[in-house]
Amino acid sequence: MVEAKHDVLVVGAGCAGMRAAIEAHDAGADVALLSKIHPVRSHSGAAEGGINAALGNASEDSPEEHAYDTVKGSDYLGDQDAIEILCNEAPGDVYQLEHWGAVFSRTDDGRIAQRPFGAAGAPRTAYAADITGHVLVHVLYEQVMKREIPTYEEFFAWKLVMNDDRCQGVIAWDLLDGGLKSIGAKTVILTTGGAGRLYVGTTNAYACTGDGMALALRVGVPLKDMEMMQFHPTTLSPTGVLITEGTRGEGAYLLNSEGERFLKRYAPNAMELASRDVISRAEQTEIDEGRGINGNVILDLRHLGAEKILERLHDL
Ligand SMILES: Cc1cc2nc3c(=O)[nH]c(=O)nc-3n(C[C@H](O)[C@H](O)[C@H](O)COP(=O)(O)OP(=O)(O)OC[C@H]3O[C@@H](n4cnc5c(N)ncnc54)[C@H](O)[C@@H]3O)c2cc1C
Repeated sequence: MVEAKHDVLVVGAGCAGMRAAIEAHDAGADVALLSKIHPVRSHSGAAEGGINAALGNASEDSPEEHAYDTVKGSDYLGDQDAIEILCNEAPGDVYQLEHWGAVFSRTDDGRIAQRPFGAAGAPRTAYAADITGHVLVHVLYEQVMKREIPTYEEFFAWKLVMNDDRCQGVIAWDLLDGGLKSIGAKTVILTTGGAGRLYVGTTNAYACTGDGMALALRVGVPLKDMEMMQFHPTTLSPTGVLITEGTRGEGAYLLNSEGERFLKRYAPNAMELASRDVISRAEQTEIDEGRGINGNVILDLRHLGAEKILERLHDL
């Protein structure tokens, strides 16, 4: 039995899904969201460090520089057309989030503050202390509620409905009341997040199981760039809980067992602000070559001082 029909059904209600639903709604479509967990519990809420946009508030910057750093950071494998759109639109999107109520940290003269982040040539990361994702999921959910976009909460999308070679809806398991429900849609958008739970050590929530990729693959949609898995270089040992990238953005050092800032041998210019893949590989090399400490390296924040840590990294 078909429970409901919509123009657009967005499967997944993290930052990507809620933003897509808002856009489709504002373009006049009858749109609904469907999520296996409550939208604000989506893994986007775990993002701590911030959101990149060339606002130029902390030093000279431009969307072109942002695009260059992003292409370079992807070792020239990234989709350059997509990167250009992302970087050109990022400043407008950050201001829009601010106008919707996102409480970003500020500079002394009241503008949105920006901290340095790995692989960025300028301080480009707008942030809300170290709870940026938490702030953004709540702001987006407010906008979803304001527009009264229907949300099928705790519905587990299980299968895409294919008809006439087109996806025409979703069959989902109703986790609260039980049973399979069909939701029809002229267009289905999959925004189901990542697959980090493939790994034993991960900063991803238990919900990040790559369901959307599996849904698409099962109906024959090819997947792109599956090998491009990103690793956070700093986590709590042994749990894998993230220690925000913001720590290195604020100036923390990475040390080996000899107390040496070992990145001088791998990324002498960027040091702790090199891209995540460079830092992760450097850490593993130090450990493999016997300069680790119980299979780890050390993140040193002592020189930052209590005031900076408590103000900007209070969730540590
Ligand atoms: C610990 C951590 C910190 C991060 N920090 C930052 C940061 O500071 N800055 C930054 O830019 N990026 C950061 N990232 C990356 C960023 O958070 C993610 O790329 C982004 O949040 C992904 O958003 P999303 O909406 O695609 O996915 P998610 O937020 O994971 O949402 C996925 C949605 O899909 C739904 N879903 C999944 N499967 C199903 C199914 N079968 N049926 C129904 N619903 C389903 C879920 O319920 C959820 O609503 C971080 C990532 C991690 C892991």
